[in-house]
Amino acid sequence: MKIIKGISISSGFSIGKSFLLKEENIKIKEENTRDSKNEIKKLNNAIKEANSQIIKIKKNVEKKLNEEEAKIFDAHLEILNDPELFEKTKEIIINNNKSASFAFKKASDEIKKIFETIDNEYMRERVLDITDVSNRLIKILEGIEIRDLSLISEETIIIARDLTPSEISQLDSRFVKGFVTEIGGTTSHSAIIARTLGIPAISGIGKNINLIKNNEKVLLNAKDGILILDPQKEEIENFEAKKNKYEEIKKEEDKFINISPTTKDNWKTKIAVNIGNLEDLNNYKKLNIDGVGLFRTEFLYMNSDKWPTEEEQFNVYKKILETVNINNETVVIRTLDIGGDKKLKYFNFPKEENPFLGYRAIRLSLDKKDIFITQIRALLRASKFGNLAINLPMIATIDELKEVKKIIKNTENELIKEGQKINKYQIGMMVEVPSVVELADKFIKYVDFFSIGTNDLIQYTFAVDRLSEKVAYLYQPLNPTILRMIYKIIKTSHENNKWTAICGELARETKLIPIFIAMGLDEFSMSASFILKIRRIFSKISKKESEKILEQILDSETEKEVSNLIDKFFKENNISYY
Ligand code: PEP
Ligand code: MG
Repeated sequence: MKIIKGISISSGFSIGKSFLLKEENIKIKEENTRDSKNEIKKLNNAIKEANSQIIKIKKNVEKKLNEEEAKIFDAHLEILNDPELFEKTKEIIINNNKSASFAFKKASDEIKKIFETIDNEYMRERVLDITDVSNRLIKILEGIEIRDLSLISEETIIIARDLTPSEISQLDSRFVKGFVTEIGGTTSHSAIIARTLGIPAISGIGKNINLIKNNEKVLLNAKDGILILDPQKEEIENFEAKKNKYEEIKKEEDKFINISPTTKDNWKTKIAVNIGNLEDLNNYKKLNIDGVGLFRTEFLYMNSDKWPTEEEQFNVYKKILETVNINNETVVIRTLDIGGDKKLKYFNFPKEENPFLGYRAIRLSLDKKDIFITQIRALLRASKFGNLAINLPMIATIDELKEVKKIIKNTENELIKEGQKINKYQIGMMVEVPSVVELADKFIKYVDFFSIGTNDLIQYTFAVDRLSEKVAYLYQPLNPTILRMIYKIIKTSHENNKWTAICGELARETKLIPIFIAMGLDEFSMSASFILKIRRIFSKISKKESEKILEQILDSETEKEVSNLIDKFFKENNISYY
């Protein structure tokens, strides 16, 4: 048996025969051409043909999946018809006497390079979309057949260097039981489509791809991001048991679509959703979600070529508030949190030794007040369309908080003078810097709520870079230090008749659910894909029972001790989870 590790991009288990998809090697000769006019004509015709092919795929996806997934192909049409790309290609054809395919490849490679250097996973993964479009166009120009994966009619697990969104959208889930790719990440469009199709998949296995033979029996555990080669009888039996348990729990989770989070002893709380754009609200109504707990507005800035204008931002905030305003649920919108690992195409960040400790989030907003005021104006103007809560990232001192609040108040006064109507709104702050925890009783006087960003809180508390693999052992979500901090924040907010949410990844950590219930957390906020899982766990926990172990948990010394206590709790209460 051999185990290959990757990243889970679409959870699930499957057993099947490997199907090695050969890498397509599209070679284009760099020969000079004398007939630029003809090359431009060829380019125009090929763009026309590619347009109609992509529109056809889009229509198929609309039928097979849904309208939202089909929008991915609008993005492809945008790339294909991008005037800048067209002009660059034309320039290379005319000035360098190159063929249309050579020129288009060169021009699209240049654009890809810009995306590849952006220090952000989401933006980097747009490269695959450009590759998808550019390969299609070049194949049309060169008369190369476009591979049709819808023809796979045997039960297989595809192994490939990568799979483009248009290839994955063709897969027939009756036959394709899973796929494994050498490159790619969780936020690629390919990953999104795989999840919607319900095809288990892992990516990023790297050069280990060479260990896989064609047509051999493999076990794909896409929940844990593992591919097992050459399994023996015992492993297959173990795997099948795990697969059955997983599928049984999944089926049970589906029943929680319309059920609000309630414990066995009838204690209710909220499970809200974390979003990065409007599309993340697609399943909002269907899943009966209790509001937006975190809108990371930085994606709005990162997906733009320039600082987004007040009007552009206003339109997005308005739409989000309107979509969520079904039962007057709250929408927590966080002001720009850029810096650290998140950069912008159009802004040069200062060179710093420790960007995570440097010019980031509210620090940048307070330095670039015009940018901040533009965002606050857009937010306040949108307030009349729902229940707005403004959330401030990376606050470390009371002085910062006071200064921000003054800016917000002044902006509000300006807008009122201009005749704008502004609804009641809340102001809250992220708790992600340890200095806030110690002084929580003072901070709470200035805000309506706390929102705990556990991703950063853990990073800054243990002085461990959240992206470093070398010191990852120090990134300890279950450590009693963190749990005591969270408890202190929740208690302080309640003593002041305010509320607390957790919007960092810990909110969806199954093992911590009973602990947060015992602490009386007011809102858990997470990506939509975890909501059913957490609602199911909720329904199996009694608040009274979980309160009994809280003291012991907070009195522990190590993460291991906490973990063992919680395991015991889950066992005693007969709660199965995966
Ligand atoms: C956090 O730090 O937990 C958080 C929610 O913010 P981000 O992950 O965007 O830094
Ligand atoms: Mg954070």
